[in-house]
Amino acid sequence: MAQVYNWQLGREMEYRFPEAHPKWQFAAVFNINRCIGCQTCTMACKSTWTFSEGQEHMWWNNVESKPYGGYPHNWDVKLLQLLNGISPGMSWDGSQPGALQAPYGRYEGETIFEAAKRAELPDTAVGYLPTDEEWTAPNIYEDTPVNRATSTQATRLPEHKTWFFYLQRICNHCTYPACVAACPRNAIYKRPEDGIVLIDQERCRGYQKCVQECPYKKPMYRPSTRTSEKCIACYPRVEGSDPLTNGLPMEARCMAACVGRIRLQGLVPMAEDGTWKPEPTNPLYYLIREEKVALPLYPQFGTEPNVYYIPPRWVPRPYLRQMFGPGVDAAIAAYRRPSRRLQAVLQLFRATQTIVFRFDVKEGAQIAEVQVDGQPMALYDDVVIGFDSRGKEVVRVSVKQPFFERPAQYLNSI
Ligand code: SF4
Ligand code: SF4
Repeated sequence: MAQVYNWQLGREMEYRFPEAHPKWQFAAVFNINRCIGCQTCTMACKSTWTFSEGQEHMWWNNVESKPYGGYPHNWDVKLLQLLNGISPGMSWDGSQPGALQAPYGRYEGETIFEAAKRAELPDTAVGYLPTDEEWTAPNIYEDTPVNRATSTQATRLPEHKTWFFYLQRICNHCTYPACVAACPRNAIYKRPEDGIVLIDQERCRGYQKCVQECPYKKPMYRPSTRTSEKCIACYPRVEGSDPLTNGLPMEARCMAACVGRIRLQGLVPMAEDGTWKPEPTNPLYYLIREEKVALPLYPQFGTEPNVYYIPPRWVPRPYLRQMFGPGVDAAIAAYRRPSRRLQAVLQLFRATQTIVFRFDVKEGAQIAEVQVDGQPMALYDDVVIGFDSRGKEVVRVSVKQPFFERPAQYLNSI
């Protein structure tokens, strides 16, 4: 095992391979607050990549209803129980967050890699192989809230007594992927150009160690080929080699199809030591590292996942802290009272399919003053401008959405 630095944990940790980082890292932000659970993303992925024989149960993108739903069933509860059984606690010292190298504080518990080693498991990481039954019904418990029968009181933000939320999931293209560490054939690799994690179908022999050890359960076994497969981040689109993209890096299908406009995907520039190069006008860098409004899913597992979530405002905080770590309160506070710049950058979600590498904000007039938590908050009609990989403007959106009135002669037409 090598020592590597995991900034999401604010400390070094053990991993099978020494540090080796890509030039760019695939990353995304999902705004849970806006998801309507329509599953358009799920179907966009399924109809593109997993419509063939032997792939019937493969949902590389899925949207599950928390707290009860999960695909495979109960994947996170099972993993948390396993990890807690070996290494009780999973505690954080979040008292001194803020540093670039430890923005959420320091994780004091053990990761899935460390716990496996200390417990002398034969595996690289704590994990389990889901049963066939658990791979059925990808939307089990959809829209099922807690306390539906017992709570008849109307509730108010910030927390609801009756609640559920949608959790959108793809492979996290982790910085320290458990699937890569698990594979005895070294068939899984992380691309040096964009950090996308792929399974080499020629080398894979279907041992399913990746299925067992990925804590997010994102590699899936295909019986018709006897190999494992997983989300490929629509890499032809991301690298700009898909004919549709005209040579420009484009977002993955699940991102581009999102009806709720909750997804923003991009590439962040990486330094050789694995830190993110400071790039405050890269929208992903800005949201995740500057504003800290989006957080990694179960960072305590230790894989340094690269999909980040704006946590739902109405859910009890202990539940969210377990899921997203100690940065939850600051992230929700930043989202409830967004800074002027954040108000503008949030408009970039689903404004274009082309990956935005840089943004600029042109300031406009104040259009309103609202009350948030008893404090006044000004709203401005600023304009956010997005630039592609070649530095060319590809999108321009204002905070105040334009209003169109249909002319009387077209009222009944579509
Ligand atoms: S989410 Fe799982 S499959 Fe994806 S890179 Fe991370 S460990 Fe590998
Ligand atoms: S398409 Fe967007 S809004 Fe619809 S379920 Fe997927 S993430 Fe949610």
